[in-house]
Amino acid sequence: MGQEEELLRIAKKLEKMVARKNTEGALDLLKKLNSCQMSIQLLQTTRIGVAVNGVRKHCSDKEVVSLAKVLIKNWKRLLDPLDVPFISLWPAPSTHPIFTHQQRFIKYLPRALLQVLEDMAGWPLTVSHIYQELKSTDMKYRNRVRSRISNLKDPRNPGLRRNVLSGAISAELIAKMTAEEMASDELRELRNAMTQEAIREHQMAKTGGTTTDLFQCSKCKKKNCTYNQVQTRSADEPMTTFVLCNECGNRWKFC
Ligand SMILES: [Zn+2]
Repeated sequence: MGQEEELLRIAKKLEKMVARKNTEGALDLLKKLNSCQMSIQLLQTTRIGVAVNGVRKHCSDKEVVSLAKVLIKNWKRLLDPLDVPFISLWPAPSTHPIFTHQQRFIKYLPRALLQVLEDMAGWPLTVSHIYQELKSTDMKYRNRVRSRISNLKDPRNPGLRRNVLSGAISAELIAKMTAEEMASDELRELRNAMTQEAIREHQMAKTGGTTTDLFQCSKCKKKNCTYNQVQTRSADEPMTTFVLCNECGNRWKFC
């Protein structure tokens, strides 16, 4: 009997037990399942997970319930690849190209991510570097994996993908890069501009500027301010006026 037939047979038995409200013998069947090598395909075709979950819900035997929970937990991991330590799935990335695992995993990933993965034979290696560093598949690991994915599939960040695909950025390097380092040129420019502005504001505070009663502070309503005008953008655009309230320290700016 093939594994699929065997699983179908067990699923049917379990369903009957639940229907008859008599789960005697369920433990033996669950133990048998526990020794099976499960795959996503088998889970889908046999619906064994549904049958086991039915037993979990309707059985009063603690041993049966806890084994059912273990089985379900293990099988769920097959469905969410990010919950599984990739290093155990791809023990030797060079000899296990991602495509050999396509049937088992890739089908269940979002389409946008699929595209990235198809292009990236080095991806398993990247993920295993992350796992080696963090030694866990907790939130931190998952966030790290997900942040790499979202940067790699970001349409505004083709440079990063190009560099990874060409090998200019190695699997090991991208496993460690910060959000800042992965950011697109566009985003990086924006951040630089913001930093520049912060520096100018800081300089203004140091150099003093002009004291005036022209502006009223929106926080303390007093009219004791210092202002400075700075050319933040190109020369033909209006100056930005930075205002500092000398009473309460409130800062604002306008063009
Ligand atoms: Zn004020």
